[in-house]
Amino acid sequence: MSLHPGLDEAPASLFAKRPRYDQTFPVLTAAEIGRIRRFGDIRRFKDGEQMIRTGAAHPGMFVLLSGNVAITQRDGLGNVTPRVEYSQGHFVAEIGQLSGGRVALVDGHAEGDVEALLIPAGRLRALLVAEADLGERIMRALILRRVNLIQGGVGGPTMIGSPTSSGMVRLQGFLTRNGLPHHSLDPADDKDAADVVARYAPSAQELPLVVTPDGTVLRNPTVSELARAIGMLDHIVKGKVYDVAVVGSGPGGLSTAVYAASEGLSVAVCDERSFGGQAGASARIENYLGFPTGISGLALTARAFNQAQKFGADMLIPVAVTSIDCQRANGAFTLRLNDGETLRAKAVVVASGARYRRPNIDNLAKFEGRGIWYWASPIEAQLCRQQEVILVGGGNSAGQAAVFLAGHAAKVRMMIRGDGLAASMSSYLIDRIEATPNIELMYATEIAALEGDEMSGLQRVRWRNRLSGAETAGEIRNVFLFVGADPATGWLDGCGVNLDRGGFIITGTTANGRVAQALETSVPGVFAIGDVRSGSVKRVGGAIGEGAQVVAALHGYLADASAPLS
Ligand SMILES: Cc1cc2nc3c(=O)[nH]c(=O)nc-3n(C[C@H](O)[C@H](O)[C@H](O)COP(=O)(O)OP(=O)(O)OC[C@H]3O[C@@H](n4cnc5c(N)ncnc54)[C@H](O)[C@@H]3O)c2cc1C
Repeated sequence: MSLHPGLDEAPASLFAKRPRYDQTFPVLTAAEIGRIRRFGDIRRFKDGEQMIRTGAAHPGMFVLLSGNVAITQRDGLGNVTPRVEYSQGHFVAEIGQLSGGRVALVDGHAEGDVEALLIPAGRLRALLVAEADLGERIMRALILRRVNLIQGGVGGPTMIGSPTSSGMVRLQGFLTRNGLPHHSLDPADDKDAADVVARYAPSAQELPLVVTPDGTVLRNPTVSELARAIGMLDHIVKGKVYDVAVVGSGPGGLSTAVYAASEGLSVAVCDERSFGGQAGASARIENYLGFPTGISGLALTARAFNQAQKFGADMLIPVAVTSIDCQRANGAFTLRLNDGETLRAKAVVVASGARYRRPNIDNLAKFEGRGIWYWASPIEAQLCRQQEVILVGGGNSAGQAAVFLAGHAAKVRMMIRGDGLAASMSSYLIDRIEATPNIELMYATEIAALEGDEMSGLQRVRWRNRLSGAETAGEIRNVFLFVGADPATGWLDGCGVNLDRGGFIITGTTANGRVAQALETSVPGVFAIGDVRSGSVKRVGGAIGEGAQVVAALHGYLADASAPLS
């Protein structure tokens, strides 16, 4: 394999992570290729023939038996950049090829006549499971290649707009949370981007522009429009009746997907935003077993997302379930989706977790995405570099976010309604907050008013001491709200699932004379796990454990449902 001349010098190149180069581009021996021949079919390409087309369905993984393949990147603005050249013994694929129908992020052309073994998605998953050692090497390479694509901004859409605009933050957040490579250009300092803006003359409301690799230009798209345009949903199989539909791909839903799919059940997972759920927004999870130095929620859940796909779970993201028909007219539940489609399954696992609570502050909605944030990822942290910020909340997630933001902002004013943290936060976090000089703890304090406008976002905040009633104001452009969450159960209305007084789903009790299993709701075949479940521990480890446990109950339910009536 050779790298394109000049690529090594580029700091953000595909190969910037030199230390893991051999793991990223391993060469298979003749004996190893012999072992995996049974998973694929031989394909031949003439010199110059296109094997992979950006934006079109990727045929699968090519293992090169002879000839070379040149990989190039096309960015939709007409720029084509050579990236890498594969030769005999290399395999040509990245993690997207684990799911059939996923679109290619790059172009690939034969250089010289090529003979290759083509392993389509389903057979590739079978190979990874059947050939444990080789499978591990291939899986690692596929993940590292995606990481390199993301780090190098290679493949995927180009976003054009001001880096601090709410539209850019929203779309970047969506692509980052879903582990998709993308590239951002600021028309203020990039001529190509300025030319595109001049040509399409968008109004202020139509920015940012997004240019997909096939040249389609979207004006300030919703995340669903963007997802559709870049082929995120092209792999969905219509009309299939799954064994289990999982609603939510936070830690609980991902865990169900991994265990259920690895035990032979057909699984579809829907999430309206991204994989990872609340945990995906956590800068550092320090209490998850096996990670003594902590792990970011995104890194942990990205691994689980890849693992679920390795076992064949269909991931439908971003897709919201708007309602459910629990009549089971033809033996299956029908879930209605926000794009007008339906999804059918014999059993349903509710893993829809919780949604951020909104305190009662005038104008709050006006500033959401324009200075009001419900999570603190590196994207939001960039916006408050060297500024003073407010963080509201006294729980563990608030504590983690405060420590994280303190590394970027000049000062974090941490506002708590009560008079202490001991009742709501782990003591290790309290110690850390107290040891961080630029976090100021403000007890018995709440936000009184937000000021600013829709164009420039939040400009100024007034806060009040609850004991004295005294109000203070400050030039603050970013407020982080970590005041808890409410269960996401509205879409279950009419199904007959029993809820507790807080709206959380009750499981495992006797309802209508029937004893439900441990994680089963009052409706047979509908199970609930994780934060949405009444009495659950509201921790990553708890949701993951319940995701594994529910699969045993699913097997029992599906076996009973398919047994002939005596
Ligand atoms: C900032 C932060 C930091 C945290 N840090 C820690 C920590 O360090 N350690 C720890 O143990 N716990 C931590 N937690 C708590 C932990 O993240 C949660 O307990 C855990 O994520 C719950 O997992 P879940 O799968 O039950 O639900 P969630 O993570 O809430 O996931 C639910 C998913 O369902 C989706 N969804 C909801 N409704 C629908 C619908 N109708 N259609 C489709 N999709 C839907 C949502 O988009 C979401 O992705 C933290 C939470 C936050 C917010």
